[in-house]
Amino acid sequence: TTFKELNLIQPIQKALDELGYENPTPIQQQAIPNVLAKKDVLGCAQTGTGKTAAFAIPILQLLEQNKVQNQRKNIKALIVTPTRELAIQIEESFADYGKHLPLKHAVIFGGVKQNPQVGKLRNGIDILVATPGRLLDLIGQKIISLKDVDIFVLDEADRMLDMGFIHDIKKLLQILPPKRQNLFFSATMPKPIQELANTILYQPVKVEV
Ligand code: AMP
Repeated sequence: TTFKELNLIQPIQKALDELGYENPTPIQQQAIPNVLAKKDVLGCAQTGTGKTAAFAIPILQLLEQNKVQNQRKNIKALIVTPTRELAIQIEESFADYGKHLPLKHAVIFGGVKQNPQVGKLRNGIDILVATPGRLLDLIGQKIISLKDVDIFVLDEADRMLDMGFIHDIKKLLQILPPKRQNLFFSATMPKPIQELANTILYQPVKVEV
């Protein structure tokens, strides 16, 4: 399979051409069409498999195609990931694949002053990449609203639980609008992760590598 066969919009195809990406990885081949079809996805994949592009590319495409409804620039896609390093990498992926699109994105994580991060949020963004603690903190301060979130990604769910973020995730699930598309990624699927996936996902398509 080539990316051409996935019928991506031209601004995204162009970005991939410029990056030298020709063939989607197995996780991308399976996930991209399902995300574009607005299905919930349960992805069993580790870092290095191309899982970031597996959700970032179709999210950019969905947001671009619905751009008429997006004009308020409230957060439409939320990606939650356990570490600052992952958060930064994911935002860079959105910047790379979305460089020919007018969509705006930002990244927030704890351990640093909030003001530099908050400045960017005030202009309005379409896509937010966040670690759980800082996200809940800024929601509590009413700096972030999740009321227009349409797509929710939980990245590295197993590491999230290992790092003790389960309580934060449960809080977040109560704040998110109930009607949304969910993408759930984990390198491993032990019982607690499967249970968490079951509480989040609606009739998910399973993709595995
Ligand atoms: P990830 O598993 O998301 O951390 O991605 C691993 C690395 O593979 C990243 O550096 C990506 O830039 C790169 N990558 C992802 N998908 C592709 C692809 N289809 N072709 C070439 N490189 C890719």
